[in-house]
Amino acid sequence: MPFAEVALNVPLRKTFTYHIPDAFAGQVLPGCLARVEFGVAMQPGLVLALHDESPIPRTKPLIELLDPLPVLSPAYLDLARWLSESCLAPIGACLWLMLPPGFTGKSDQLYRFLRDDLGEPQQLSLPGAPKQPPSALDFRLLEYLRDKGPKRLSQLKRAFAKEPLTPALERLTEAGMLSSEAVLAPPSVKAKTRARLHPQYRVEQIPDLIAQLRKPSKQAELLELIAERDADAIGLGDALKRIGAKSKAPLKKLIDEGLVFVEETERGEQDLIILEAPPERVERALSAWRGEGYLRQLLLDFIAAAQPMTMKEATEATGASRARLKGLVEAGALELRDEILWRDSLRDFDFVPSAAPSLTPDQRAAWNAIRPTLQGRESARYLLHGVTGSGKTEIYLRAIAETLRQGRAAILLVPEIALTPQTVRRVAERFPGRVALVHGSLPAGERYDAWQRARKGEIGVIVGTRSALFTPLPDIGLIALDEEHDASYKQAPGMNLPVYHSREAAEQLARRHGAALILGSATPDLGTWHRARQGHYQLLRLPQRIMGHRQRIAQQADRLGLASRYQSAQDDALAIELPPVEIVDMRAELRAGNTSMFSRALQRSLGEVLARGEQAMLLLNRRGHATYVFCRDCGFVLECSRCDAPLTYHRVDRHLRCHHCGASEPQPAACPACQSPRVRYFGAGTQQVAEALNDLYPAVRSLRWDIDSARSPQTHFEILRKFIDREADVLIGTQMIAKGLDLPLVTLVGVVSADLGLALPDYRAGERVFQLLTQVSGRAGRGLLGGSVVLQTYQPGHYVVQAASQHDYAAFVERESAYRRELGYPPYRRLARLVFAESSPEAARRQAEEAARRLRQILQAQALTGTTLIGPAPCFFARLDRRYRWHLLLRGPDPRAALRELKPLPGWRVDIDPVDLL
Ligand code: ADP
Ligand code: ZN
Ligand code: ZN
Repeated sequence: MPFAEVALNVPLRKTFTYHIPDAFAGQVLPGCLARVEFGVAMQPGLVLALHDESPIPRTKPLIELLDPLPVLSPAYLDLARWLSESCLAPIGACLWLMLPPGFTGKSDQLYRFLRDDLGEPQQLSLPGAPKQPPSALDFRLLEYLRDKGPKRLSQLKRAFAKEPLTPALERLTEAGMLSSEAVLAPPSVKAKTRARLHPQYRVEQIPDLIAQLRKPSKQAELLELIAERDADAIGLGDALKRIGAKSKAPLKKLIDEGLVFVEETERGEQDLIILEAPPERVERALSAWRGEGYLRQLLLDFIAAAQPMTMKEATEATGASRARLKGLVEAGALELRDEILWRDSLRDFDFVPSAAPSLTPDQRAAWNAIRPTLQGRESARYLLHGVTGSGKTEIYLRAIAETLRQGRAAILLVPEIALTPQTVRRVAERFPGRVALVHGSLPAGERYDAWQRARKGEIGVIVGTRSALFTPLPDIGLIALDEEHDASYKQAPGMNLPVYHSREAAEQLARRHGAALILGSATPDLGTWHRARQGHYQLLRLPQRIMGHRQRIAQQADRLGLASRYQSAQDDALAIELPPVEIVDMRAELRAGNTSMFSRALQRSLGEVLARGEQAMLLLNRRGHATYVFCRDCGFVLECSRCDAPLTYHRVDRHLRCHHCGASEPQPAACPACQSPRVRYFGAGTQQVAEALNDLYPAVRSLRWDIDSARSPQTHFEILRKFIDREADVLIGTQMIAKGLDLPLVTLVGVVSADLGLALPDYRAGERVFQLLTQVSGRAGRGLLGGSVVLQTYQPGHYVVQAASQHDYAAFVERESAYRRELGYPPYRRLARLVFAESSPEAARRQAEEAARRLRQILQAQALTGTTLIGPAPCFFARLDRRYRWHLLLRGPDPRAALRELKPLPGWRVDIDPVDLL
C-alpha cells in the first residue's frame, strides 16, 4: 500500500496523504512517526492508515521515519479519532495528547554559510528592494555561521536575541551567501543515560591481564636486571644503558630502599651494582613497582562489585584515577556500556509495602461483581457509589491486584495528585516498584520515561490525573476513576484542544482494550447516576462507613493521652455512623448580636475539640465569592485590570491579587473613584479565618491550605504532613481540603459559609455545592473518636444544604433531577457551548452573533427542531486574562449535529457537554 494517511499537529480537523517511497516500503505502519513536508516547512506526522489509492492526484513523499517502530498502537489511533469526532477538535491535537510533551521536534529552518564575501562590502537587498551596504549584523551573522557551522533559526534567535534577525537572514540568503532549508528540530526530551564499567574477564584471566597491563617502572626494570644477574655483579653504566635510563634516579631509588649498593672500582673500570636484599624483598619491591598487587586488587574489585560501577563509583571505591580506568577500557579489560536511567517521580517516597485487609461484607458483594470481568476480556462498566470512607479505594486496590495477576496493566485516575497524596501512597505501598505517577506538572523527562516504559509494557499501574489516561499501555485490564464527579476530569476549554471528559474517554479506551471501568464516588455526577439507572453502568453500593485505623487510633490515643470515650461502645464494630451535621442559621446569629464569622455553635464545638486535644478542619467555599475590596463611601469595587474580576486582599503583603490570572497590585491608599481613604476589604479568606480563630483561642495552632499557601505539590505534602504529625490543631482551607483526606484525629469539620456558590448562574451550581459539602463532611469522624460537622449558612432551608446535612444523596438527586428535567438541562438534554474570547467586547460579540446567525440557518436547513440556541450573551466571567468573553449554548439531543456543519470561526472554543457555564 503505497499511500499513508497522515495527521499533523496543526489546527485542522482533516488528514493528509503522502506517498511511501520504495526505500522504506513495508516499514511504514499505522502509528509510525515520520518527517514530512507541509507547505514549505518540515513537520512530524503520524501515520493513521495505509491506502492503495490517494484521494488527490499529486502527493509528496514521506521523507524519513523518525522511529523504527510505531509510537502509538491501533487502539490509541482509534481513540484519537473518536476524541476528534466527539469533541470536534483537530485530529493532530488529539494524537499529540498521547505523546509526551517535547517528544516530537518542531519545524525549523537551518542556515548554512556558503561564501566568504565578508571582506568585500557587497550590496545586499531583497528582490525588488533598493540595494544597501551590509549591516554590522549581516557581518556578525556570516562570521558566526562560518565559525560555528550550520545553525537552526531557533538557535540563532537565542544567540542574537532581540536583533532584527529575520530580514538579515533573508537578505543574506537572497544574495547567495547563506543557504536555508526546512528541517525538524530534534525533540526536546530524550532518555537519560549513564555509562557503567562492565568487566570483560573472569578471575582466572587476571594474571594474564596483569602481565599484559603492567607498566614496569625504570627502577623495577633495573632491579629485575640486577636480580637476574645476581651471580656476577653488573656494571653501572651498562645497566643504565640496558634499561634506557636517562639519569641515575632509578638507581638512587634502589639504593635508598637498601636493595642494592654500589661498589667503586679501580680507575677506568665501571662501578659495580651489587644486590643486597634477600629474594623475598626483591619480589615484593618488584610487585609493588610493577603495580601488580594493585592491579590485581582493582581487577578483583570490578568482578566483586554487586553491579557494574560507574566511573565515579569506581574512582571512589578503588582509588584508581580516571586515566587508569580509561587505560583498562582501552586495553579491553572493561567495557563502558550506557544504561537508560528512569527518572522516577515516586523516588522521594519511602514506601512500606502494606498488606490487603480482608473485605467487609459490602465490599465483598461489590468485589464479587467486578472480579469475573477482570478475569475475562469483555469490557464492563461499574459505578461504585459508596459514602466517604466506605472502602472504595480498597476495591480499586483489589481490582488492580487482580489485573496485575492477569498480566495486564491498570490505570487509576485521581482528581489532583497534590490533593490526594494519601491515595497515591496507598497504591504505591500496595504495589511497590510497579507504580508510575503521571500528571501535568511532572518534569518533561519523567513524563517521557514513564511513557517509554509504559510503551514497553514495563509499567503495571499508572496513577495520575486526566492526561495520564493517554499513556499508551499495550494491554489495559482496568481503568478506575476515583471521585468521578470531580470537575478536574474535564479538560478546560482551550484553543484547538480536545475539550474531553476523562470519564467518556476512559470508557472508550476500556472498550478498545476489553477492560473494566470503575467509576467511584460518594456523590456521583448526576449524569453518571442517570446513566447507571438506565443500565449503562452496573451500580454497586457501599452504604456504610468502615471503621478504619482501629489499631493506629488506639496507639495514638495511648501515646497522646487522648480521651478514649468512643472506644468502649464500638470497640468491635466494623461500621461507623456518618457524622451528625448541625445546620446553623447565620441570620439568627446576626439577630442575636453575634457578628463574628463563627457562630456560637461552632465556637463551642471548636472549644471542646481543642480542649480534648483533637483536630478540626474549617472549610471556606471561595467559589464565586471573594474577599473583595470596596469603597465604604461610593461602593466602588476594585477589579483586576485584565479580568474584570474582583481582586482579593492579602494581608501578608498588603497586596490585591486576581484569582483568575494571578496579577498582583498594591493596596491603594484611596478609592480610585472618589479618593475616599475608606477602602476596605470585605468577606473572608483563609487568612481572616485564621486571625479570627486566633482572637478566640490565642493558643491555637492553625495551618492554612489554599492556592496562596501551597503553590507546588511539595508544599501541599508539607502542609498535610504537618497536620498529620499534629503540628497544628486546626486546618483552614478552601475546597482543596475536601478531597480524599483520611485523618482519624479530625473530629470536627466547620463549614464557615455553606451556601456561597449556590447563586451562581450555572445549572450545576447546586450539584457542586452538594458535592463539596458532602465531601468535606466526610472528613470528620473517620476514627474511633467519632466526630461532627457544623454547617453555617444564610439559607438553612435550601434543599442542597438540607440534603447534604442528612448525607442524603437520594434526596438531593430527586430534587435536582426534577429541576433539571423541568428546565431541559443535562442529563435530560445535552449542551454545547461556544466561547468567543477577543481583545475587544465588540469583537467577541460580533463573533458570537455571527456564529449564532449561521447556526440558526443550519438548524433550519436540517430541520433540527429539537435543538435550541441560547444566547449569545456575555459570560459570567465577562473578561478573563485581558480577553472579553461571549458565549452561546446549543441545547438538544445532540448539539454536535449542527456544530459539525458550522465552519470554524477564528478564536472560538468548542465545549461539548460543558461542566462549567461561567
Ligand atoms: P473510601 O475510598 O470509600 O473513602 P477507603 O478505602 O479509604 O474508603 O477506606 C476508609 C478507611 O477504611 C481506610 O482507612 C481504609 O484503610 C479502611 N478500610 C477499607 N477497607 C477495609 C477493610 N476491609 N478492613 C479494614 N479496614 C478497611
Ligand atoms: Zn470611593
Ligand atoms: Zn486577572
